[in-house]
Formats: sequence, C-alpha cells, structure tokens
Amino acid sequence: MNTTNDRRVRTRFAPSPTGYLHLGGARTALFSWAYARHFGGDFVLRIEDTDVERSSEDAVQAILDSMNWLGLDADEGPYYQMQNMARYREVVQELLASGHAYYCYSSPEEVDQMREKARQLGLKPRYDGTWRPEPGKTLPAIPENRQPVVRFKTPLDGVTSWNDLVKGTISIANSELDDLIIARPDGTPTYNFCVVVDDWDSGITHVIRGDDHVNNTPRQINILKALGATLPVYGHVPMILGPDGEKLSKRHGAVSVTEYDDDGYLPEAMVNYLARLGWSHGDEEIFSREQMISWFDGKNLSRSASQWDPQKLNWVNAHYIRQADLTRLAKAIEPRLRALGADPERVSLVDAIALVRDRAHTLVELADACLLFCADPATPDPALIEKHITDPARVALADFLARAKECAWDRKTLSALIKELLSAHELKMPQLAIPLRLLIVGTPQTPAIDAVLELLGRERVVERLELGLK
Ligand code: GLU
Repeated sequence: MNTTNDRRVRTRFAPSPTGYLHLGGARTALFSWAYARHFGGDFVLRIEDTDVERSSEDAVQAILDSMNWLGLDADEGPYYQMQNMARYREVVQELLASGHAYYCYSSPEEVDQMREKARQLGLKPRYDGTWRPEPGKTLPAIPENRQPVVRFKTPLDGVTSWNDLVKGTISIANSELDDLIIARPDGTPTYNFCVVVDDWDSGITHVIRGDDHVNNTPRQINILKALGATLPVYGHVPMILGPDGEKLSKRHGAVSVTEYDDDGYLPEAMVNYLARLGWSHGDEEIFSREQMISWFDGKNLSRSASQWDPQKLNWVNAHYIRQADLTRLAKAIEPRLRALGADPERVSLVDAIALVRDRAHTLVELADACLLFCADPATPDPALIEKHITDPARVALADFLARAKECAWDRKTLSALIKELLSAHELKMPQLAIPLRLLIVGTPQTPAIDAVLELLGRERVVERLELGLK
C-alpha cells in the first residue's frame, strides 16, 4: 500500500456547517491541528456545505468563531465544497473514462426492489449490479427520458484495510460494499465522493475524524485507489459521551463551543481539557498549547469513548484563571459586571480579581465575586444583623469608624488597627470582622477583611459604616 509517511504532513478539519461547532467537532479539529503543528505541517479548513438544505452561513460563522476562539488557526482555507463543483464533475468524468465508474439507469423504485429481493434471500440489501459493465456482459437497453446516476465500480472481492492511527488495523470485505452512487441524476456529486476528491487534491496526508465515519473509509479508499492517489493515514477518534455514559447532547448542558465562552471558560482551559478527552501524555493533566504540540505525535490516542466531565473542566478552568494575566481577566469580566448592573470602575478591578480569583471556576463566578467591590452592598439579612451587631460590637465599630477616618489606608495599617481594637474591646476576630462585613458589603463572608477594606476605599467604608451605625 502507498504510504504517506515521507510527505509533508497535511491534516484537515472538514465540518459540515449544519449547526454550531459542538464539542466532539472541536476536539477533532484540535487533534488535526495539533498533529499538523507537531510535525511542522499544514492544517487545512474545509467547509463541507454540499447539503444545501441544512447548511447555513450562520453555522459557518459559528464554526469559524469557535475555531478562532480556541486558537486553531488554519494554514489554508476555509475552502468551500460548493465552490468546487466543477472539479468534482471533472473527476466523475475521469472515473467514467477509466472504467472505474458507470452510468446506472435503474430507477429508485427498481433499486428498492433489488434490495427487497436480496433481503428475502437472506442477503445484504444492495444494488444488484444491473448496469455494471463487465467483459462479455450485455447491458440492458437504456430507458427513455431517464437521467442516470453514476456509480463507482467497487471491487467485487478482496478486502479493504487500513492501519488506523487510533483503532489499529481495520479490514472490511469489499463484498460488503455497494456500488456507491458518486453523482446524482442531476450530476451533483455525493458526499463521500467530494471528500475523496478534496482530500486527494489538497494532498491531505492524515485524515483525523470522528469514528462515525469508519464506514465511509473503505468506500473512500477504493475511490482513491481507482484515482491512483496516495492514500492518507486515517485516524478515527471515538465519540465523547455525557457524564451519564449516553451520547453527549443538549441534555448535558452546553454543547456548542461558543456557549463555553459565554459561560466563562478560558480558551486555553478548553483546549487543555478537550485534549485530554481521548488522548494522554503520561499523567499530565495541565499543559500548555506548546507542550501539547510537542507531545501530540499520533500515539496514545484512546480507542474507547471518553466521558465529558464538567467538574474536571471546572478544575482545569480554575487553574487557568489563577494563572491568567490580571488585566486580561479584568477586561473579560468588565462587560459581565456591567450586565449585572455593577460599575467595574468603582474599584481597581485587577486588585479585586487578585483577591478573589482563587475560588473562581469560571469568569461568571469571578464576576460574581467581584460584585462585592463594584456593586451596591447587598441588604444584610436582619437576622444576621441582630445576631452579630451586638452592643459590644457597636462600640468597637464606632471606634473603628473614628479611627478609619484618619488612619493610613493600606492593608497593613488596617490589619493592625483591627487587632488593636480586638484587644482593646476584648473581642475575637469574628466578633468584629463579621459585623464589619455585614455593614460594609452586606454579607458575613468575604475574603480577608483588611484586604476588602483597603480595596473598597476609605470613603465608601466610612459612608457605609456611618449609615449602618445610625
Ligand atoms: N463533514 C463531515 C462531518 O462534519 C466530516 C467529514 C470528514 O472529516 O471526512 O462530520
């Protein structure tokens, strides 16, 4: 068999624009991209838009946006199959001329009857080869006014096998395969045929795709062989299942990549997490894009389906939120804060983020945590007020207020002041810190009180304490 090993690596991602880019598609794109990058090759983007009814420009845009967000940059494309029709027709003609394809005038009803007949005989339902030319065979008379389809002349015997990058050797008997229609009565080429021509013309060396395409592969290989093409290496990646072991679907929450953007996931977290679905490098769970590229050599791809685990994704995302540049995070959450009715300019947002980000799993949680500093304080629960704003606490709070009006406003000074007041009033930390929190931000729990005070600023702290102690 021809191999592609000595050619420059060229992979492709070939989505059908019939909807958003779902997680399985994104993972396939990532693997194809990483494989090309690892070998210093090319990554080609091809939009398979021949299903005109179901394809849309919005879906194309959603796919491009998602890939852009994930940073899966293509070296070529997007190519659009609908713009390549003349070429497919040309190759159909070549196959007809070389005797690898033939016109078939059987009507759909006749083909149905053939199938039914085979079924009754206990055979695999299939086209019976009526119009397949063979040496010495006389073909039926061509019916009038009937446009033929073009069928590919699949070898009658032998096996088609390939060494799958993921699944190992797969062999399918040619007798299992029908004479595939490659062009419809109106001359439009069919799905498998377009894929073959494009992979061939664009010199694709490695086809990495979902394993729902395994059945198409022997058909595509046979056509490529008939064309005298060098065969690509195929790698069929198993599907991603939901946490319940069922096929991943809307029921499991967001399935479109862009929804994860909306839900506050960072693209590097998404890439890192997706990479681990069906691929591993030792025990590494957290790795950069560059590390992935240096490791992703087509080995260690899992043969079994992987499971979507939202908690693990959260864990990975939390890691990247802790690592991310603060200014970038601030930019990312500003619109979220505004949407929540808060004013991000009320505080130094980067300082607020630095204080709260350790606990955030998503940008949504991060924005929520920053509300403490840039939204009006929540109205505290009266029961909490009653419980914590005791008389001794009030005295200490009044003392704090008086001192807060003139002390230096930095974390260290504020911390020393609180300690001093605790000992002067014989209180324990929570006996002062909780009342302070309730009065200045409306909740009993916040990050370290001295840091919260510093960030809120003297003016707001004084104003809120004065109001609360009235
Ligand atoms: N267009 C196909 C799909 O979206 C992929 C075809 C291929 O990768 O060969 O499932």
